[in-house]
Amino acid sequence: MWDFSTDPEFKAKLDWIDRFLIEEVEPLDVLYPSVSVVYDTRHSASRAILKPLQAEVKSQGLWACHLGPELGGEGYGQVALALMNERLGRSLWAPTVFGTAAPDTGNAEILAMFGTQDQKDRYLQPLLDGDIVSCFSMTEPQGGADPRVFTTQARRDGDHWVISGEKWYSSNARYAEFLLVLAVTDPDAPIQKRMSMFIVPKGSPGLEIIRNVPHMGERLEMDEATEGYLRYNDVRVPLDHMLGEPGGGFAVAQARLGGGRVHHAMRIVGQCQRALDMMCERALSRYTQGTRLADLGTVQAMIADSQIELEQFRLLVIKTAWIIDRSHGDPRQARGHIAMVKVGMAKVYHDIVQRALHMHGSLGATFETPLAYMWINVPTFGLADGPTEVHRATVAKELLRHHRPAEGLFPSEHLPPKIAAARTRYAHILDDQLLENCDERCV
Ligand SMILES: Cc1cc2nc3c(=O)[nH]c(=O)nc-3n(C[C@H](O)[C@H](O)[C@H](O)COP(=O)(O)OP(=O)(O)OC[C@H]3O[C@@H](n4cnc5c(N)ncnc54)[C@H](O)[C@@H]3O)c2cc1C
Repeated sequence: MWDFSTDPEFKAKLDWIDRFLIEEVEPLDVLYPSVSVVYDTRHSASRAILKPLQAEVKSQGLWACHLGPELGGEGYGQVALALMNERLGRSLWAPTVFGTAAPDTGNAEILAMFGTQDQKDRYLQPLLDGDIVSCFSMTEPQGGADPRVFTTQARRDGDHWVISGEKWYSSNARYAEFLLVLAVTDPDAPIQKRMSMFIVPKGSPGLEIIRNVPHMGERLEMDEATEGYLRYNDVRVPLDHMLGEPGGGFAVAQARLGGGRVHHAMRIVGQCQRALDMMCERALSRYTQGTRLADLGTVQAMIADSQIELEQFRLLVIKTAWIIDRSHGDPRQARGHIAMVKVGMAKVYHDIVQRALHMHGSLGATFETPLAYMWINVPTFGLADGPTEVHRATVAKELLRHHRPAEGLFPSEHLPPKIAAARTRYAHILDDQLLENCDERCV
């Protein structure tokens, strides 16, 4: 049975979220519209506002909803999370207020999935409590989309692993209490077994921030550069700081990235909805040559196209979430759909935000609406968590796995043999006259 309705009990929670976002979280967005302050746990003024809001969310049973109950979350499932995240995605601070901000969500997931009890107690629990932030350190200066080019190594030395190499674009490294680092442990093994994942605590000797690089969505007057260019100079971690099996780092990273991509997409639904809402309000409010923008055919086309594209994208995201729920929360079972969502996200976000910005005219091209921030971030959604091209290839390969080459020289849909077969199939019914007519029409 296909059902697009929301359970009334959960709908009440969504309504509470809507009110809470407008009344309590939006003021935080406008007071601190800074991507670095969101992750800076030492920023006392923002924390004084944030902590009571997080406590309120916890008391509503809406904290860290990306995790199932067995992993320490509420366990509403990914479809419910999609409905939540499309609301939270409208706001810069909301994911942090609700304990679902990337990259900490993905890091918490793999700690919960692959961590020992000791690792969970020391690193997962404070992350889930919202007391610390973390970093995922995988991409290297020579490439991020192809794990074959990764050279950061970890070698065993007595009861320690010793990590050496450089990592690039390690988001929030400067604020993180710990970093999850992917390093080669067996260079001769096939790629799936070549690397392992390590937990490196903040302040480990040899952990050097070469530079904090601002990404293009940061504002130089208020942000302090959040993308770490790091060097691991023989950083030593105890043996029990490996996350997962030796050689299992690639699988750990894949488990993390799959879920993270869908969560991003859920939030982008919210951003697109916000841009579309702005577009509609503007169309109804602005007059040109005595006519409302909303009455102009080209403006109606922009609104209609945006609504259609957003609805298609949203349904794809929710279906992907549904597949993950049906696979007991395992995103690997939705690989093709996650890749579709990842490709679709970059395009739909680009197209809708561009139209909304354009409809706002010169105001759209200022920093006095949220549209400028959205627009600046557009290109990063085609890059972060892997470039569009890589995911497009995954979509095609997944689809092609379910198809076979044609048996003969012509495609299986070639009509002449089909017509011949159909004639044979119904020869006992069709009389000679009908067959003649069919000859005239069909050949
Ligand atoms: C906002 C943001 C946050 C990020 N956060 C993190 C983080 O926290 N931790 C982390 O480790 N990394 C992070 N990254 C890095 C991200 O994972 C990489 O940018 C991504 O994997 C691409 O790697 P690259 O930048 O080296 O590009 P490259 O791998 O050099 O690719 C560059 C371009 O080459 C083309 N290309 C590459 N591969 C293919 C292919 N197979 N087929 C066709 N064309 C291809 C594409 O056009 C692609 O855009 C972040 C990136 C962004 C933008």
